[in-house]
Amino acid sequence: MSRVTLTDVTKMYGDDVIGAEDINFRIQDGEFLILVGPSGCGKSTTLELIAGLLRPTSGEIQIGDSVVNDTPPQDRDLAMVFQDYALYPHKTVRGNLLFGMKYNTDLPASAQKEKVEEVASLLGIADLLDQKPGQLSGGQQQRVALGRAIVRDPDVFLLDEPLSNLDAKLRTQMRAELQQLQAELDVTMIYVTHDQTEAMTMGDRIAVLNNGQVQQVGTPSEVYAEPTNEFVAQFIGSPSMNIFTTTIRGKTIRAGNAPVQLDTLNEYADGEELRVGIRPEDVIVSEDSTQGNAVASVSVVENLGSENILHLDFANQDFIAKVDERVYPSNGDEVGLRFPEPLIYVFDNEGRTIKTRNIDAVEQRQPRRQL
Ligand code: ADP
Ligand code: MG
Repeated sequence: MSRVTLTDVTKMYGDDVIGAEDINFRIQDGEFLILVGPSGCGKSTTLELIAGLLRPTSGEIQIGDSVVNDTPPQDRDLAMVFQDYALYPHKTVRGNLLFGMKYNTDLPASAQKEKVEEVASLLGIADLLDQKPGQLSGGQQQRVALGRAIVRDPDVFLLDEPLSNLDAKLRTQMRAELQQLQAELDVTMIYVTHDQTEAMTMGDRIAVLNNGQVQQVGTPSEVYAEPTNEFVAQFIGSPSMNIFTTTIRGKTIRAGNAPVQLDTLNEYADGEELRVGIRPEDVIVSEDSTQGNAVASVSVVENLGSENILHLDFANQDFIAKVDERVYPSNGDEVGLRFPEPLIYVFDNEGRTIKTRNIDAVEQRQPRRQL
């Protein structure tokens, strides 16, 4: 059983610095969980608590059914891969992989050698076994670090930003490989990243952290479509959700000069301020500025081939719309905007979500060029 459970786990550094606060979640046996959040939010702290490299200030960590608070890292049946790989520079690849097994196996030397070769070919580094890390590319070193974890046959893999030193193309490739590997090895994997794209594409579930606290745990679709608060709403999704402040008037909010009627606002009084959000991919943009409920001017157009990212000057802020390639205005043009009511998010003053989007209520999401 390699379920991992954190119950009310807090880690203080000294008296004042909160590393992680009141962390509660359970990772099921064989699950791929992503811990995501901005730099300094407590991802590494949480992972190192699970690994046993840090002791919690309070709370309980369980692996399977055993409380492991007092169990040293080498007895926890897990393996960790760090961002900087931490390979031994003077050992060959083979030596590095063998070292991964040393403290963790009763296998005879011949079986260890076999295992190393098996894992090396699984990772496509069999022909590099006699080289030293310094002779390898970043991607190859990354595979060796992974291999060193795999040869140990752990029940739980912990990975701390393992792909962040790789170039974009290799990162995309390794993302897919890691997912395959996790399924093939059928292990529990906890993967830390600050990159929401990695989080959305890799895991079964995502735990979003901010300021040392878990904001939400859910599947990628849940955190995208039903964020529990403004932080998660803005952190998940790329480009980020547009969010602006609005004042309620007669159950409507104003998006620019466009009043939008929202039944969810029944309990809110006129004059109260709320925060309104809409994802860049949900804004409908027309090149005819008389179409739609609001007008915005285009400051920058990023052409991505199949789609365009429009930076708009709207509601006194940089407002982003992701549109079909056929909507292709020029810098300085005025465009018309529409915000479909089902796709609008609303947050209260404390950032809690009042309304999420309902994609089923929308017939057509992708804007089409208006001639
Ligand atoms: P992340 O991995 O998400 O970037 P960390 O877990 O490394 O975040 O850090 C969480 C918080 O704890 C940050 O405020 C960081 O400055 C602080 N912190 C981390 N390690 C230490 C340490 N050894 N001593 C003091 N503060 C630390
Ligand atoms: Mg970190």
